[in-house]
Amino acid sequence: VKASFSVIQDENEMMNGFITVLSDVTEEEKIERERREFVANVSHELRTPLTSMRSYLEALADGETWKDPEIAPKFLAVTQTETERMIRLVNDLLQLSKMDNKDYYLHKEKVDFTKFFHHVIDRFEMNKYEHLQFKRDLLAQTLWVWIDKDKIIQVLDNVISNAVKYSPEGGVIKLGTKVKNKMLLITVSDQGVGIPIDQIDKIFNRFYRVDKARSRKLGGTGLGLAIAKEMIEAHNGEIWAESEEGKGTTIFLTLPLMHKKRGDVS
Ligand code: ADP
Repeated sequence: VKASFSVIQDENEMMNGFITVLSDVTEEEKIERERREFVANVSHELRTPLTSMRSYLEALADGETWKDPEIAPKFLAVTQTETERMIRLVNDLLQLSKMDNKDYYLHKEKVDFTKFFHHVIDRFEMNKYEHLQFKRDLLAQTLWVWIDKDKIIQVLDNVISNAVKYSPEGGVIKLGTKVKNKMLLITVSDQGVGIPIDQIDKIFNRFYRVDKARSRKLGGTGLGLAIAKEMIEAHNGEIWAESEEGKGTTIFLTLPLMHKKRGDVS
């Protein structure tokens, strides 16, 4: 705790009291420490792909290697992958910085979540995940929510992409909706590697990864869930995870349902 004293004087400069201000510096220090950690993380995350690219480019520039039909395409492919990861990282950072701005605005509209979620899953199914199976356990009824569609697509993309990334060959990814306490409850379950219990809440922190090397190899930025959490909270919803190591993970998301007309079933 930081204490500061100010003397109160009257017009004849006679002291007639003093003010003591006690402020909680632990909170200030925490914010400052987090800011420093964030900058260090960003620098590190950018330096890793850059140094790797430098090595590959140096190797290509060395002698006639760039003409080698065996090696050159491989090295160029690595620099391309690293560039793409850096672009993703910078885009994620821009997204976070936009959300930090108090003028950040959500373009919300009335959306039937059931139809919307089917579309999102259809898009995943059309992709190249032949080794995975998507199973829908969605309520059939119309579920009205007041959301920014682009932002919620991004949240679902991040969560479902993780399920895809951490799933084993032939894994089933289950997508569900339920109604609970006037909230819409969305679940995304996988049969993947799982998350150790003591780290489960940390995965929503910026740059937190259970297995750094694995996440990098899979092209992760470590920011996907941090962005998802901020976006869901901006919609007055919540996000959390349950997991069993070696068995799988379930991500839970809630969104407020719009006021229902009488006679609707829940
Ligand atoms: P990343 O880009 O590394 O995937 P995220 O913010 O999306 O970053 O996730 C943070 C970390 O949480 C991941 O690195 C991973 O360790 C863990 N994680 C997230 N989703 C899952 C999942 N479905 N199964 C296992 N681990 C997961």
